Amino acid sequence: MTISKLSAFRPRILVIGAGLMGLWPAAILAQKGCAVTVLEANPSAIGASWAAAGMLAPASEVGETQDDPGSLGRFGAHSLGLWQDWAQRFAGGGHEVCWRPFGALLSAFDDQGLQRLERTHRAAMALDLHPKTISIEVARQQEPALSAKAIGALCIADEASVDPRLVMQALQAWLQSHGGNILFNHRVVDIDLRPSGVSLGCDHDQRFEADQVILAAGFQAGDINGVDAMAARLHPVKGQMLELSVPDNPIRAVMRDAHAYLVPRGDGRMIIGATSEPGLEDARPHEADIAALHTRAAKVVPALAQARITDRWAGVRPQSVDGLPIIGPLEATGRLFANAGHHRNGVLLAPASAHMLCDMILDDDASPFATPFSPARFASC
Ligand SMILES: Cc1cc2nc3c(=O)[nH]c(=O)nc-3n(C[C@H](O)[C@H](O)[C@H](O)COP(=O)(O)OP(=O)(O)OC[C@H]3O[C@@H](n4cnc5c(N)ncnc54)[C@H](O)[C@@H]3O)c2cc1C
Repeated sequence: MTISKLSAFRPRILVIGAGLMGLWPAAILAQKGCAVTVLEANPSAIGASWAAAGMLAPASEVGETQDDPGSLGRFGAHSLGLWQDWAQRFAGGGHEVCWRPFGALLSAFDDQGLQRLERTHRAAMALDLHPKTISIEVARQQEPALSAKAIGALCIADEASVDPRLVMQALQAWLQSHGGNILFNHRVVDIDLRPSGVSLGCDHDQRFEADQVILAAGFQAGDINGVDAMAARLHPVKGQMLELSVPDNPIRAVMRDAHAYLVPRGDGRMIIGATSEPGLEDARPHEADIAALHTRAAKVVPALAQARITDRWAGVRPQSVDGLPIIGPLEATGRLFANAGHHRNGVLLAPASAHMLCDMILDDDASPFATPFSPARFASC
């Protein structure tokens, strides 16, 4: 459906979940003239999107395990390109999202770490992100706080970071300024496909009717009656994080080694992450894990050992069974769509996923990236 057709018929679209996978398509669809309502289970959206560090790191993430960027890495690099534009749009609307296009500096402290740098270099080359293997001396000129004990360093100039909580605020404002709204404390418990549209039931017996629905409920998407099949496709992966107070801002780029990443916000806060705990869905931080992360961060930047911990939290990543996001129609009539399963890369992939999904919903041209992420890949499972 094109924008001109929308002016004759204004589709009613319900979005389940006010994380980045719900808010971003909601904001785009509202801007394009749809009547959009987001239903969020909690009093505020404090899921994985709220918990995330905000690294936009397609190559650094690929290099954790492999050197071939694959469909996920290429989609990530495409989304990184969209981020630049969106950061400017948000700023133009008065919403700074802490856009920091200052690259990533990866360091190694042992042979395994060096192999990881080599994998990441190859991935970044394949994605055209301008990686450079540099000596420790050069790395310490760029980031003087880097430990002198590092034995290898890789700079990826084109990676970036944002503050996901500010992005969520910006998207909420964008949505509302285009006539959309968000209903908090509305947990969807069932989805009923009807000949004329879709009916959603909430936990306090309220029902909502729509022409189309986007399921963006994070790792809990399969808890809703009517889409139970999603439960077998999504697994929770808990991640714990901490915030340090570093008033003198010792680093500029995102810095990471094999065991920790450091994301400066540029305002005296440094975000350190993260644990990866498959199967756990409680969002409680544990002091022993937080202390271990702090120690790992101080191995990369020793000055951080003295920094005060000012906050700690946890979130639950939605991981699909094959590690790829699930984006597209969940049934043949084009009334129910998923935007889920973005695991470690949801902040990075959010704009590309939203644009691709909105094009599907509005019947615009199909994205060349769509096939590997289609829910249809599970049809034979
Ligand atoms: C610690 C941590 C660090 C991360 N760091 C990064 C990073 O640096 N870069 C990156 O790209 N990605 C990162 N990620 C991954 C990224 O955060 C996720 O992939 C992404 O946020 C998932 O977004 P989502 O909207 O699918 O899920 P969520 O943000 O969890 O949103 C789902 C929403 O749906 C709501 N909901 C659930 N069930 C219902 C229901 N039945 N009815 C209504 N609402 C419902 C929930 O309350 C929630 O608000 C990180 C994740 C974690 C946990």
